[in-house]
Amino acid sequence: MLNIALFGPPGAGKGTQSKLLIDKYNLFYISTGDLLRNEIAQETKLGLEAKNIIASGGLVPDEIIVQIIEKTITENPESKGFLFDGFPRTYVQAYILEGLMIRLNTSLNCLFSLELDEEESVKRLLERGKTSGRSDDNEEVIRNRLKEYYDKTLPVLQFFKDKGIHYSINGANSIEKVNKDISKILQNELSKSLLNIVLFGHPGSGRGSQGMALAQKYGLEYVSTGKMLEREIEKGTETGKRIKDLYENGQLVPDEIVVQIIEEKIENSKGIKGFIFKGFPRTLVQSYILDGLLKKHGSAISEIIEIEVPTLDLISRLDARSKTDRCMPYDNSTTKIVKRLQEHETKTVPVIEKYNQQHGVKKIDGMGTFEEVFERLSNVIERGFRKI
Ligand code: AMP
Repeated sequence: MLNIALFGPPGAGKGTQSKLLIDKYNLFYISTGDLLRNEIAQETKLGLEAKNIIASGGLVPDEIIVQIIEKTITENPESKGFLFDGFPRTYVQAYILEGLMIRLNTSLNCLFSLELDEEESVKRLLERGKTSGRSDDNEEVIRNRLKEYYDKTLPVLQFFKDKGIHYSINGANSIEKVNKDISKILQNELSKSLLNIVLFGHPGSGRGSQGMALAQKYGLEYVSTGKMLEREIEKGTETGKRIKDLYENGQLVPDEIVVQIIEEKIENSKGIKGFIFKGFPRTLVQSYILDGLLKKHGSAISEIIEIEVPTLDLISRLDARSKTDRCMPYDNSTTKIVKRLQEHETKTVPVIEKYNQQHGVKKIDGMGTFEEVFERLSNVIERGFRKI
């Protein structure tokens, strides 16, 4: 979920920016001002209570705000995220927002404070008053709304500064520039919330077929260095020829080649929910490279999974595959199969151990039918999504 709040004096452009952002990021829009005006139009009890306060430019009591917000949020539990406009406006409301986010098992990602000079606010609101039809867009009420803002709302900023999610935006800039400034921060925030899975397992453990199926089910990008290297071989490039020789000797491909193709993949993947890395990192050096590559994109590893299959079953699975048309150039003889298993033991097992100490590795039983293993892996991925 991506949850954001727009903060700033009346006239700073919160409504205008909200419209642009909800479309771009598929967010559910919650404007307490709009919700209150709606209650007034429908002449509900809440609306009647709020009507005179709004007309005078004062703040509506927190008890009313909590009711209308809670109702809207609980009626829309499937939302991909919320954009709050004009809320929170008091310290109490900042805590209400915290509570609501906890109930949804999520949190507020960013609060953007659109900064605008007081006289500029008045000027903009008077201009808006000519067409908005809002009874509170006249000079006397505008001055009162601004006073409420500076007295009661502005101090709330400290709450979000302390949480480290406050971003100051110059609201005097053009609509496009403000939108660009906000989007840049959001893009960074989104890449933080990618679900990045590293899928380990010995050759023959089923990580390839499981990884591909998981990527498809959960909208993740499947990054298999093996597959990408094969494509180089097919294309017959110089690099492809080098890779082919190494494969035939059961050796690993040098890091310079692997890094380059992974980096390209990360950079070209847009609009995805995360990555599943299979067959990478295979060495300690590569594990540092992966951390660095993800960090460069404002992201990190979310879950590390190892599919466990006993050695004898691995050998018999690889041997069986070598007799089918799915036979890979690197497993068409017993010598090569043994060599790959040895490479895994000596180079990759230490990487798994390092990860186990640092983050913890989820061990998944790789025995049973494809569906059984798939379900075990899906559970880990779903828990991972809930965490972010
Ligand atoms: P807005 O559309 O956000 O400018 O809000 C218009 C008016 O609705 C404000 O001047 C307040 O009277 C009332 N209002 C909107 N949101 C809130 C809130 N979160 N807390 C208290 N009053 C609010």
